[in-house]
Amino acid sequence: MYVDSHCHLSFPELSARLPEIRAEMQAAGVDRALCICTTLEEFAEVHRLATGYDNFWASAGVHPDEEDVREPSVDDLVALAALPKVVAIGETGLDYYRLNGRSIADMEWQRERFRVHIRASRRTGKPLVIHTRSASDDTLGVLKEEGGGAARGVFHCFTETMAVAKAALDLGFLISFSGILTFKTAADLREVARYVPLERCLIETDSPYLAPVPFRGKTNTPAYVPYVAQQIAELKDITPQEVARATSRNFEMLFGVPEQSS
Ligand SMILES: [Zn+2]
Ligand SMILES: [Zn+2]
Repeated sequence: MYVDSHCHLSFPELSARLPEIRAEMQAAGVDRALCICTTLEEFAEVHRLATGYDNFWASAGVHPDEEDVREPSVDDLVALAALPKVVAIGETGLDYYRLNGRSIADMEWQRERFRVHIRASRRTGKPLVIHTRSASDDTLGVLKEEGGGAARGVFHCFTETMAVAKAALDLGFLISFSGILTFKTAADLREVARYVPLERCLIETDSPYLAPVPFRGKTNTPAYVPYVAQQIAELKDITPQEVARATSRNFEMLFGVPEQSS
């Protein structure tokens, strides 16, 4: 049984057909999913999924790309993290991909928002779900400054270099691979996945985006996470079942989710 450690089931393209998606998940052997929050405005919807279904969990956080949304305080995040089935803080991090004419210095608001999430994570003991794009040096730098070696969590939808992977592992973080791993152009990333020890790996879809091959370009759903596991299995020359077992155990340990009894 597979776990999708990062999906956006509250987004309209997925939430509109939830019963169908849940049936597809079951048919594909995907028994659990972590529903990721990207704004405080969205949190209630994400949390409703987690409280409405035994096999869904939720995070609380504000994505670095989100502007013109409510800015979270440490207290806001700590309060949300205390609610039932909220197991992570995020997604948070830094994204300098679309600067829209601004300089990196202008993005201090993102770094400050990231620090707020790290403080909330340290206060609650709930792990961080980290998003980093075109900003790996600052992401690692802020984590070291603010995390003081105590911050933990996962670098989600990993697309960075081997050096960044090693730095994240050195900080004690897990690394989560998405459908990008199956893309033809992702040869370097496949080398990273081959390197990262299985006991430090998670798998995810980041659905509705980034559907794996052979569904590339279509709407992604948690039911496709086995394709990511299959790719890791090939790289490590093990079975998809071994990847499923290890990544499920890693998920349980990182997020404090009980073992599946079935
Ligand atoms: Zn992300
Ligand atoms: Zn995401």
